[in-house]
Amino acid sequence: MQSTPQDILEISTIQDAQKAVSIAKKSKTPITTVGSTHSHSRLIQNNTGIIIRTEQLKGKITINTSDKVATLPSGMKLKEATKLLWDKGYAFSNQGDVDVQSIAGLIGTGVHGTGITHPSISTHVQDATIITSTGDIIKASENKAVLEATRLNLGAIGLIMDVTFAVVPIFFLHEQTWKQSTESLIEEVDTLARDNDHF
Ligand SMILES: Cc1cc2nc3c(=O)[nH]c(=O)nc-3n(C[C@H](O)[C@H](O)[C@H](O)COP(=O)(O)OP(=O)(O)OC[C@H]3O[C@@H](n4cnc5c(N)ncnc54)[C@H](O)[C@@H]3O)c2cc1C
Repeated sequence: MQSTPQDILEISTIQDAQKAVSIAKKSKTPITTVGSTHSHSRLIQNNTGIIIRTEQLKGKITINTSDKVATLPSGMKLKEATKLLWDKGYAFSNQGDVDVQSIAGLIGTGVHGTGITHPSISTHVQDATIITSTGDIIKASENKAVLEATRLNLGAIGLIMDVTFAVVPIFFLHEQTWKQSTESLIEEVDTLARDNDHF
């Protein structure tokens, strides 16, 4: 997949983000914000406007221990986020099997985890800081509809600067792998999914 945008802008602060939005607004060009570009689909393609890269939106995470929520910069990679959370004694309750995605990309596409009792990581989103197409800064939690839309936004909600997730105390998983015939797996799949926390 290839993009041939008019421009590619890299942002590392809210001011950069507002400047990028103002440039796009003046020239009436569409913005596509990208994280790690792991989706490699039309979601992140832009051949007429501006691509905004968010890899520099990383750094510190903030944990509110009484509410058990963590605020993470939107461009931070899942790999780094889980390490920083772990160092402070916290974890996501569920996540996908790859960790190259950015925090905003992850929720933008509603990346799934595993386990029938574990919903997508997007359901744990409690808040986000968003730059709108007018350059205004809004908090998703101030409007229930905006918060729900943020949870699976396909890049259409605005430019996300940070995301706040509900987190849980660290835990360990016991991993088992085995080979099984397709026929017996089909027979046992419901029981296996019920009896294993992540399957
Ligand atoms: C072939 C393939 C294999 C995959 N395998 C897995 C897998 O094994 N496990 C798994 O859990 N998931 C998997 N995914 C899903 C993929 O990891 C997700 O699509 C994830 O969103 C990618 O994150 P990213 O940071 O690369 O986001 P990107 O691909 O860069 O962007 C995804 C979306 O988020 C938007 N976005 C990104 N950053 C921002 C921001 N700061 N503000 C606003 N919008 C933003 C983009 O505009 C786009 O709509 C796969 C996807 C594909 C196509």
